[in-house]
Amino acid sequence: MGDELAISVRGLRKSYGGNVAVAGVDLEVHRGEVFALLGPNGAGKTTTVEILEGYRNRDDGEVSVLGVDPAHADADWRSRVGIVLQGTGEFDELTVAEVVHHFAAFYPNADDPDKVIARVGLDAKRKARTHSLSGGQKRRLDVALGIIGRPELLFLDEPTTGFDPEARREFWELIRDLSAAGTTILLTTHYLDEAESLADRVGVISGGTIIDVSTPALLGGRQSALATVSWRTPDGALEQIETATPTAVLRELAERHDGEVPGLTVTRPTLEDIYLKMIGHR
Ligand code: ATP
Repeated sequence: MGDELAISVRGLRKSYGGNVAVAGVDLEVHRGEVFALLGPNGAGKTTTVEILEGYRNRDDGEVSVLGVDPAHADADWRSRVGIVLQGTGEFDELTVAEVVHHFAAFYPNADDPDKVIARVGLDAKRKARTHSLSGGQKRRLDVALGIIGRPELLFLDEPTTGFDPEARREFWELIRDLSAAGTTILLTTHYLDEAESLADRVGVISGGTIIDVSTPALLGGRQSALATVSWRTPDGALEQIETATPTAVLRELAERHDGEVPGLTVTRPTLEDIYLKMIGHR
């Protein structure tokens, strides 16, 4: 397990009674990497991540997170790891500013709470009581609490669920900033565009095992997948063909048409198309 690895997992297994949730996961996340774990509901993502966070016991396997087995983690290790769990934090009558300042006090090298509040876009809600926040705002507060300790490694479990599109884009910028500053990030998400936009590599987990790990561009043989060329015939009907040589098809179409080819599009499978195919095959 080299020093350049933030996370190293071999043969991880976990069952709940007779139900096998994680059935032999191998995983490596490099320092400085943004890694997205994808998989359908019940695939074993949260179980895997919570074992890495030291919140769940495992049945079997080797796990090293920042060089430490999380099953035996101490306060020093905890201060180096940031965690944003699923579900939203509410802190009764406390305000946003009070909660973030309170959490900052737990860390030896905490960030400036006011800057962190601004960074997650909650400046206008500094004095709001947490129970009055919207779902997306509570999620932002969760993120603030995950990064207040300036973690070397940040776990984000479905971080943008409930965010509006603008908030999601702002959050992506925050993740890029954290990554540029050297933070290693492991996130789970059901949003394929989020994985594509943020992740250096993605791992697809299904039925408790990792079925592929790759960059978003190469996952599931995406780069060699056929392109679809479609256009409209003179009577308005849609024609389309799948081809490995779309440029040749375009050339032929251009020759056939005098001027513009009506309704011309060339598309390749999206990450979501590839992912759904992979999951469907299981
Ligand atoms: P989701 O996308 O829905 O969050 P997930 O990939 O995170 O799913 P897990 O929460 O890890 O999946 O669940 C994996 C399997 O383990 C599921 O079948 C789930 O029902 C089961 N499971 C998870 N937690 C427990 C628990 N505390 N007790 C019993 N079974 C559990």
